[in-house]
Amino acid sequence: MNKMKRCRICVLPETFPGITFDDAGVCQYCQKFKGKKNLEDKKARYKKKFEELVEKHKGQSGYDALMCYSGGKDSTHTLALLTRNYGLKFLAVTYDNGFLPAQTLRNIHKVSDELGLDHILYRPGFSLLKRIFSGCAAEDIYPPQTLMRASTICTSCMAIVKFSALRLAVEKDIPFVVFGWSPGQIPVASAIMKNNPEIIRVMQKASFDPLFSLAGEGIRPYFLEERHFDGSFRFPYNISPLAFLDYDEKNILSEVAKLGWERPEDIDANTTNCLLNSFANVTHRDKHGFHPYVFEMAKLVREGYMERSEALAKITEKENPAVVESVKKKLGL
Ligand SMILES: [Zn+2]
Repeated sequence: MNKMKRCRICVLPETFPGITFDDAGVCQYCQKFKGKKNLEDKKARYKKKFEELVEKHKGQSGYDALMCYSGGKDSTHTLALLTRNYGLKFLAVTYDNGFLPAQTLRNIHKVSDELGLDHILYRPGFSLLKRIFSGCAAEDIYPPQTLMRASTICTSCMAIVKFSALRLAVEKDIPFVVFGWSPGQIPVASAIMKNNPEIIRVMQKASFDPLFSLAGEGIRPYFLEERHFDGSFRFPYNISPLAFLDYDEKNILSEVAKLGWERPEDIDANTTNCLLNSFANVTHRDKHGFHPYVFEMAKLVREGYMERSEALAKITEKENPAVVESVKKKLGL
């Protein structure tokens, strides 16, 4: 690949939508960053807010929290942390998008047993997923700003995870839905969010309509129904603890290893649980000229969670062609 201009501080490239650089070659996101001290203060405030919420809601339902459990290192670490340090009773839910490595399933079983968790494996029929993922490979079905943060394939997969987890939490009256987002994937300011039914209705429509156009009625079970909005259900908080607790990738890998977690083979550098990711990355990069994880990696570098060289390595790594081919074959492309 030819030499691409990138921000001197983070790793955002000149091909990133809307990017501007000052005379020193620093991007607008790095110019706006208020510094580590400000960030640490904000994290401390959110940690306190989280602890107050735990105090208030713990022990009032059969489960305190529903974990969106991908089986990756970050969600595994989050589960362990909140089970052990905060005593939360979890229902862990894994959505198998058809590309979950066998090792990830073994990891999930080991970790669930180790932590004494209840776990649900939700496995949507593959014909539905095939229509969605092959459709997303052909066409970007969401507004262009979503492409800055993730590939269209990942955005669709996450919409299914987020809304079906919310539906389950609403139906089971679970007060918290927990995500293992890294600090690169979510700002501290969004790390604790009370789900508001009216806002959810609008947000859900923005995901539901494009997915419906690809796959039709089959997507309905993964979203809230009109009856969920009638005021008789309690809506949970969404919590992303890694945005305000400590985040150190090496430490996380060593902590999850103690639970028996092992890194699956054949996955790319930006995931620890998904074989579809390589294909999603290639498709996005070929179409848009930048890596779909670059915004996340840039944020981790800017905020001091990751070395610039490490981020560069992750976003310039070539995907394994055999894995990409096997995904294409499975999707009928
Ligand atoms: Zn920058």
